[in-house]
Amino acid sequence: MKMIIKNISKIVQVGIGDKKFIESKNLDKINTIDDGYIEIEGSKIKDYGSMKNWKGISDWNNTEIIDAEGGCVFPSFCDSHSHLVFSEPRHKEFVLRIKGHSYEEIAKQGGGILNSADSLEKISENELYEISLKRLNNVIKYGTGAIEIKSGYGLSLSSEMKILRVIKRLKKNTEVKIKSTLLAAHAIPKKYFGKKQDYVKLILEKIIPAVCDENLADYIDVFCEKNYFDTYDTDKILKCGIKYGLKPKIHVNQFNSLGGIETAIKNNAISVDHLEVINDQDIDNLKNSNTIATLLPSCSFFLNMPYAKAKKLISNNIKINIASDYNPGSSPSGNMNFVSSLACIKLKLTPNQVINATTINGAHAMEISDNYGSIDIGKKANIFITKRISSYDYLHYSFTENIIKSIILNGKIV
Ligand SMILES: [Zn+2]
Repeated sequence: MKMIIKNISKIVQVGIGDKKFIESKNLDKINTIDDGYIEIEGSKIKDYGSMKNWKGISDWNNTEIIDAEGGCVFPSFCDSHSHLVFSEPRHKEFVLRIKGHSYEEIAKQGGGILNSADSLEKISENELYEISLKRLNNVIKYGTGAIEIKSGYGLSLSSEMKILRVIKRLKKNTEVKIKSTLLAAHAIPKKYFGKKQDYVKLILEKIIPAVCDENLADYIDVFCEKNYFDTYDTDKILKCGIKYGLKPKIHVNQFNSLGGIETAIKNNAISVDHLEVINDQDIDNLKNSNTIATLLPSCSFFLNMPYAKAKKLISNNIKINIASDYNPGSSPSGNMNFVSSLACIKLKLTPNQVINATTINGAHAMEISDNYGSIDIGKKANIFITKRISSYDYLHYSFTENIIKSIILNGKIV
């Protein structure tokens, strides 16, 4: 099956070739083509260019023509950090926080992640699959074409496996590209209060081997934070994951800088995620590493907390990408369109910087930039067409308005 999209006012993020990511010093540059066309064959991009060079159609068999009617075409968002497989929203805690209780205070009282773990234990795998599929379809509508999804609301062998099996089913049954991450070390479960090392032992000896036995995860994650897992625990869990073929991507420096960035880099982490709190030592460590920083502005927005210092990271040429952190406690939205606006408004990045950070660099943080994250010949046809807009910056300016008119994933209209 062939598809031709014509009359595109601007093809955005096109022709970056085999670059795996965009370095921060070049983050403000985006390639575009005015008045363009894109040709798709099967699931991949076959050709693109300016309408004036378009050769037309010689073979109409199995060819679908889409008129973009002057809309822009973007590569789909690559959201490298989400927790969208959860059982219940946590709006009660939202109200508690409005009344003055802190996120940490609520967590200490058995709320937060532990609350999510309780309700996840009760829900059946089928039910969890159905509600997660709805959430996934919803984020696709806002332009996401590749996403990483974590476990971490199970906190027991059976519940962690339940989440990861659901992610595996989502991978199989949807057109969106999915990577999965084992995050058993998301919090200390209630029955291990005062016995954290026993829970770490369970992760090392039971959960990681069982997950890998069923081939359920690509990455290993740890919430390296005060009252959660320290750098000693983090190092042990990452090393065990690596032994089983899982690469590290970790939650670090959200509330405190404990040296977790250094631990992650020493274990060749693909990414370090959050970084709302960062010191000069962390910056130095990141500068000299291959690890990419994942920034999560909608989490800061929702918790009304400081934002990551994106400009400081960029001025030090530290690689960055921007993701949604979609989860019930601190970012109950996977709308990358809104995340992009927040990145402009709150991280003070230009729309060009945000496009690179949410497409090719997001793909890099999931190790899929060979096939996703830009409009290039041979890459997967994961793109969206906007309504007619006067400039592509409009996407970032017009926050909460969904300007997407059509979505194509794997060469199919979804
Ligand atoms: Zn997260």
